[in-house]
Amino acid sequence: MPTVARRYGLKINRAGMAICPFHAEKTPSAKIYRDGFHCFGCGVHADVIGFTQRLFGLARPLDAAKKLNDDFFLHLDVGGHKSVNEVSEYRKRQREWEEYERWENEAWLMLSSYYKLLHEWREIAPRSPDDEPDPRFAYALGHAGYAEYLCEEFIAADEDGRKKMRAEVERVGGFLGGLTGD
Ligand SMILES: [Zn+2]
Repeated sequence: MPTVARRYGLKINRAGMAICPFHAEKTPSAKIYRDGFHCFGCGVHADVIGFTQRLFGLARPLDAAKKLNDDFFLHLDVGGHKSVNEVSEYRKRQREWEEYERWENEAWLMLSSYYKLLHEWREIAPRSPDDEPDPRFAYALGHAGYAEYLCEEFIAADEDGRKKMRAEVERVGGFLGGLTGD
């Protein structure tokens, strides 16, 4: 369910909640379960197929199953066989999508670790004005705002926006990698 919900544009927060696509709201009241959707606001309760059917206004659950079959490259035979070309095209898109999802997870892990780390480093403040500041403290002062900005941008961005942050994510990854190498 989370994969389908994200793919169809829902932003799931860390508590597993998202803005409900079926009623107007500003704070998330829809819970995305591993295998289902439930909105505490409007009461919509659905499995993956029901969710897809409702979201795209499809007439039958079978139409939703077909859509999921296509969008998620499942290769299930729901009405007619696919040509060899179609199947290899689907597999290519599937690999690209899986690659992106893997990268997205890693990227978020890096950005959030970077943010947490700088938050910790800000605690290593000098005890008195005469003390030489810890270089980590000095670094945190200079970069904490940037780390926060990166996290916020990443959360707010869609797939394309996140891909455009690749260079920044790599820089952060290089920085974190350099630390563990010490
Ligand atoms: Zn709702």
